[in-house]
Amino acid sequence: MNSVVGSKPLFSFEFFPPKNEEGAERLRRTRARLTELGPAYFSVTFGAGGSTRDRTLETVLEIQREGRVAAAPHVSCISSTRAELLDLLTTYRDQGVRRLVALRGDLPSGAGGGLGEFRYAAELVALIRERFGDHFSIEVAAYPEFHPQAQNAEKDLEHFRQKVEAGADSAITQYFYNADAYAAFLDRVRAMGVTIPIIPGIMPVTNYTQLARFSDACGAEIPRFMRKRLEAYGDDTASIRAFGVDVVSRLCERLLDNGAPGLHFYSMNQAAPSEAIWNNLGIGNRG
Ligand code: FAD
Repeated sequence: MNSVVGSKPLFSFEFFPPKNEEGAERLRRTRARLTELGPAYFSVTFGAGGSTRDRTLETVLEIQREGRVAAAPHVSCISSTRAELLDLLTTYRDQGVRRLVALRGDLPSGAGGGLGEFRYAAELVALIRERFGDHFSIEVAAYPEFHPQAQNAEKDLEHFRQKVEAGADSAITQYFYNADAYAAFLDRVRAMGVTIPIIPGIMPVTNYTQLARFSDACGAEIPRFMRKRLEAYGDDTASIRAFGVDVVSRLCERLLDNGAPGLHFYSMNQAAPSEAIWNNLGIGNRG
C-alpha cells in the first residue's frame, strides 16, 4: 500500500521565523539541539500573504550558512504576484536551496486585500516546475481530516491529486491525532493513483488553549478523550506535557509501524517536546 516501504524514514522539523533578536537566539538554541538528532531538513514557514517574506528568507539563509541541516522554505502563493514569487524562488535557487514546501497560504482576513495572481497551490507547483525544472524537490500540504474550506471531501481529494500531478514529489499532512484518518486518506489517494510519500505532520501537545485555537482554525480534530484530559489539567503544564508526549509518541509509533514514510514535527520553535517523542520512539535506531 505504501510506495516507499523499505526506504529509510525521513524526519524533519518545522520552525516559524522569529520576530526579533531574542526569538532568533532562542531558535538558534532549539536548532542546535534538534540538529543533534540528524533530521533530513528544517522547514521555515511563510506568513500569510508574504508577511514574513524577509524573516523567512533570513532564517532559511542562516540555516543554509550553518551547513549542518538542509533548509526548506515554505512558499505560499496567495496575495503574491508571479514576479514576486519568481524573484523569491530565484534567490532560493541561487542560495543552494533544494527543497520547498509549496502552499496556497491562508486567505487574508477581511474583504478585499488582493489575492494576487494565483488561487491554488497546484498553480504554484506548476510554476516552479515550469521555471526551475527538477532543481527543487517539492512538498505540498495534505489534509487527512480535509481542508476546512473544501467544497466536499471528494473534491478535496481530487484537488490534492491535481497538486501531485502538477509536480509535487512528496506531501506533509496537517496534524491529526487519529491514525485512522491518515490510513483512510492514504487508501483513498492511492486508489486515485497517487504514489508519492505522504508524511504525517506531528503536533506535540504543550499548551491546550493554543492547540484548541489552532485546531478550530485548521480543521484538525482533538479527540474527546484528549480534550477531556487536557481540560482537566487546567494550568498544570507539566501534566499537559507529560500526557501530550505519551499520546503523541503512541500515535507516531503506530504510524511508523504501519509504514509511514517519516514524520514532520511542528516544533513551534521548541526542542524539548519533539525530543521527548523522538527519544520514546528510538528514532535514531530505526530505518
Ligand atoms: P490548496 O491545495 O490550494 O487547497 C486550498 C483549498 O482549495 C482546499 O479546500 C482545496 O480543496 C481547494 N481547491 C484546490 N484546488 C481547487 C480548485 N481547482 N477548485 C476549487 N477548489 C480548489 N500556511 C501559511 O500561510 N504559511 C505556511 O508556511 C504554511 N505551512 C503549511 C505547512 C503544512 C505542512 C500544511 C499542512 C499547511 C501549511 N499552511 C501554511 C496552511 C495552508 O496554507 C492552508 O491550509 C491553506 O488554507 C491551504 O493551503 P494549500 O497549499 O493546502 O492549498
